[in-house]
Amino acid sequence: MIINREACTGCGRCVPYCPMEAILWHKKKDKKRGEKPYSEIDREKCVECFVCFRAKVCPTDAIQEEKLEWPRILRRAFSDPLYVHGGTDVPGRGTEEMKTNDVTGRYLDGYIGVGMEFGRPGTGTYLREAEKAIKRLVKMGVSLEPLNPLTQLIENKETGELRREVLGEKVLSAIVEFTVPIEKAQNVFRAVKEIAREIDTVFSLDLICKVAPDGDIPILKEVEKAGLIRSINGKVNVGLGRPLYKL
Ligand code: SF4
Ligand code: SF4
Repeated sequence: MIINREACTGCGRCVPYCPMEAILWHKKKDKKRGEKPYSEIDREKCVECFVCFRAKVCPTDAIQEEKLEWPRILRRAFSDPLYVHGGTDVPGRGTEEMKTNDVTGRYLDGYIGVGMEFGRPGTGTYLREAEKAIKRLVKMGVSLEPLNPLTQLIENKETGELRREVLGEKVLSAIVEFTVPIEKAQNVFRAVKEIAREIDTVFSLDLICKVAPDGDIPILKEVEKAGLIRSINGKVNVGLGRPLYKL
């Protein structure tokens, strides 16, 4: 994203819309030097989420789209929820697996789904920080979700290293996804705590499992055992179709 310096009046209306504080507002005039106020976008901080553009708050249309080349286009792919990711054909940062388990049967009895949402909430992340987690998880034998956009950036499947040219790209958030048998939950939580100490951003940890017919949620006991703070959220999809699995 860019701001056309000639068109910008420096009104500052766009500034609060940027979640990354990437719009720099130079609001002081220096009349002697003939300067006028203006805003500009810090390209390093900008994650190409398109919020400022879509908000249509600029009275002079000074906020303008630019053609994004590889690897910068990844910023938009991981940050703009309306952008359809070329590797998954769905908009957004992850896959649809977590939300469509009633059809896909991704998370079966005895398994948990894990999502690590790097950069969330509201901080952003460089892909090199997500790589640290991927390398750690691959080392412990975890098999990452193949249809996930981050997994598709892995260059070396043995080590979990991402393609070198993508590491310096900053995104609003990026999700590492995988499933493991529930008896491996404590191993995963130990690794997650180590990763938290090594990375230079924040992340949210998503845990998914099937609810038993008696209402029991098996993952909760594991969460308590690990001393993690939990917040239960539910996502319900209606009318997705006939369940594929019989277990
Ligand atoms: S595209 Fe997003 S990150 Fe970039 S300046 Fe606009 S609001 Fe900020
Ligand atoms: S809203 Fe438009 S004119 Fe106002 S500071 Fe932002 S880019 Fe400049």
